[in-house]
Amino acid sequence: MKPDQAAHNYRLYIETVGCQMNMLDSELVVAALRKQGYQLTADIAEADTILFNTCSVREHAEHKIYSALGRLKHSRSRRPDQVIGVIGCMAQKDQQLIFQKAPHVDLVVGTGQLAQIPELVAQSRADREKRVAVSLDRRDATRQQVSDSFQSYDPLRDPEMRPSPFQAFVRIMIGCDKFCTYCVVPMTRGPEQSRPPKDVLQEATRLAGEGVREITLLGQTVNSYKYTVDGRIWRLSDLLESLSGVAGIERIKFVTNFPRDMTDDLLQAVRDLPKVARYLHVPVQSGCNDQLKRMKRGYTVEEYREMMARIRATVPGCAVSSDFIVGFCGESDESFQKSADLLRECRFKNSFIFKYSPRPGTKADELFADDVPEEVKRRRNNELLAIQNAISEEDNVALIGREFEILVEGLSKTAKKEQLDDPRVGGTIQENTGTCDDHPQLVGRTRCDRIVVFEGNPRLVGSLVDVHVTDCTQTTLIGSIVTREFQHTGSDLLPILA
Ligand code: SF4
Repeated sequence: MKPDQAAHNYRLYIETVGCQMNMLDSELVVAALRKQGYQLTADIAEADTILFNTCSVREHAEHKIYSALGRLKHSRSRRPDQVIGVIGCMAQKDQQLIFQKAPHVDLVVGTGQLAQIPELVAQSRADREKRVAVSLDRRDATRQQVSDSFQSYDPLRDPEMRPSPFQAFVRIMIGCDKFCTYCVVPMTRGPEQSRPPKDVLQEATRLAGEGVREITLLGQTVNSYKYTVDGRIWRLSDLLESLSGVAGIERIKFVTNFPRDMTDDLLQAVRDLPKVARYLHVPVQSGCNDQLKRMKRGYTVEEYREMMARIRATVPGCAVSSDFIVGFCGESDESFQKSADLLRECRFKNSFIFKYSPRPGTKADELFADDVPEEVKRRRNNELLAIQNAISEEDNVALIGREFEILVEGLSKTAKKEQLDDPRVGGTIQENTGTCDDHPQLVGRTRCDRIVVFEGNPRLVGSLVDVHVTDCTQTTLIGSIVTREFQHTGSDLLPILA
């Protein structure tokens, strides 16, 4: 059956949880449905197509989706033509279980079948049959067969779904072969597969033509990128060098890195290529070797330290952030203290700290008891967070008085809230052409990915400006734009701080 011919009347509501990979997937799904004439709505009550793009990494994220589905139980009685779909990681993992828990769901579409969504939605609306489209299970077929069943999906872009009109995610690989014992991703995203460099370059060039200035390269272990063309192996460092040549692209970031794959050629590329952000997100997960072994992370604390030393030596000033899991199976007070010590020693720019929750289908769930009480997990989470916050604040204070080049991303959260609360503005972004006093607060990031807020004209959004840092909080630098006013005095040119 052809995709929905009368789709021009349909309204799509999409809710996305999880990582940047999911945000990009949603962007592509929305683009495909828009091409069919669908319009996006932020009001679930007026939607006739409702999609949940889901995450299985943590139990909490799954509960959230099942609760949202529960609230839609009687929705069909009001809108008989409504189609409800669960897509992404949870769809690939739970499959038929979703229909058992939420019988009113029409579609279950895994991460490798997203391209089929327009057709599946149309079919489901026409015959009211339930449909499941998922990839092969890694245990049931050869690597090649499973890889083929996870179709890479990057054909379309939708500017309105991007983080901002000037920023875009670009997927350079899908899947993961690391099989950390706590993680479902190798099952939900399939085997590791890198995209051809020419496809990535073409996509970046097209995005630059649409006004994008910053791209973030995505991969579950982005620095494991490897693709062979005519006998030449392309690694992430080669890709960064080629992408640096794309006119219009000013900043290139990449997430998430795997510690064991942090090679010297990549660090040298970060050091030598001016467009590449001096920022590396390299999750360590634990500071205890026994825990790392149980997690099957494939490195020791000593090896992680050695990697940190190479980063510091090769790319001075590079910001590094990390992830920690607290309360993983068998984590004693002593092993937790080792994580706290490593955090103090590495002084990460920021850390994402998660309480362990067992995930069905993983080795950890099969082999180890979830033996750390919830209360202890919560306490350890708060303890690590307090250490990280203190480090972030100390490091931010040390940056007061310095100047940074900022890519302006948009209005700050405070300015957005003020606009929403202001009846004269009514929630729209207003261009301000008045005096400096009238300017709203903008937000942007340094090349080291530090968040900076400052007052400025919204017309600056999407451009690079210099900001002088005057104050800070734990998470944010506060500053003012450096206006360079040049007056020829016969001998020198003076910058004037605004
Ligand atoms: S590296 Fe480990 S934690 Fe990261 S996606 Fe792969 S299996 Fe999951």
